[in-house]
Amino acid sequence: MAKKRKVIVVTFGGGARDQETFAPEGQENIPHLLHELAPQSSFFTQTMNQGILGHYVATASLATGVYETLNNFASIPPEHPTVFEYFRKDLKRASSDAWVVAPSNGFNRIGESEYRTYGPGMGAGVILPKHLLSAATSGSATNFDHLLRDNYETPLFTPQLRGGEFELQQLEKILQLSVSDFTTHARSMSSADELSIYIAKRLMRQEAPSLLWITMHDIDVAHSGAYSLYIDAIQRTDRLCAELWKAAQTEPEYAGNTTMFILPDFGRDADEEAGGNGFQHHRTGDAASRTTWMMALGAGVREGVVYDRPVQSIDLVPTLGAMMGFSPSLAQGKSIQELL
Ligand SMILES: [Zn+2]
Repeated sequence: MAKKRKVIVVTFGGGARDQETFAPEGQENIPHLLHELAPQSSFFTQTMNQGILGHYVATASLATGVYETLNNFASIPPEHPTVFEYFRKDLKRASSDAWVVAPSNGFNRIGESEYRTYGPGMGAGVILPKHLLSAATSGSATNFDHLLRDNYETPLFTPQLRGGEFELQQLEKILQLSVSDFTTHARSMSSADELSIYIAKRLMRQEAPSLLWITMHDIDVAHSGAYSLYIDAIQRTDRLCAELWKAAQTEPEYAGNTTMFILPDFGRDADEEAGGNGFQHHRTGDAASRTTWMMALGAGVREGVVYDRPVQSIDLVPTLGAMMGFSPSLAQGKSIQELL
């Protein structure tokens, strides 16, 4: 029997500018993307985000194909059906076939909408690696602060989730990891996104989801204003993307039948305000914060082609629908013909 088509979507950090990635002056920061992945990819140099530039709302927009207008800092689901719901309902897939690995507690509702005819029970399972770690260490983690920092924008926004029972079940039943193995591994990791990639690889091994969505967030450390930390995070994310692609080449369920998409959720600001430094935030909505890139590589995708025509964030879901054979009927973007 032919293996099932697999799709992995990776959002390249919480906001990365072209200047530090694919623009000539940024390319030294992304050696893996530039030399290993991009040459195998169809690459879109102008991927536009016309929506609200907050990480949760932008990721929700990527996942629904509609520019969502929900409150970025509230624990609420996307308003429109997610790609996970279309995928599972149309193709009659089990819940184990769609998973999200998301960076912060604020993303706990990203897996499904409450849309009538879709909604609860029809979306993706969401794994929040930081929450797993805090459950595994019973909330008394020492030396894990660098992995547990929840977001870089609103220290007040830390929704209380479940008591830990659910996460320990995810860890042991789904990921097949004991608490002690998990915390031992976590000890060797340098960032939350490294933890996310570790979890994503476990999911690929244990559940082999056909639709796997990983949201990276380390890059958003840029809000601190420290350029060196922002660059470190870009370099790390570059390395982690290559590591994930390598896993897709070596896992038997994924080798040869996987298409991977990599794109930032949006760019960052030129931040024209007095005292602004051009990379720190994403609040002016200027071209640098709205224009970014996307690459697609692997099964069914042409290699080494660069497209300069503008595409939109909300085109992703219709494109995934056309590739995988489901109908995202409420999505407002257009499928990208160059990828079909
Ligand atoms: Zn941010």
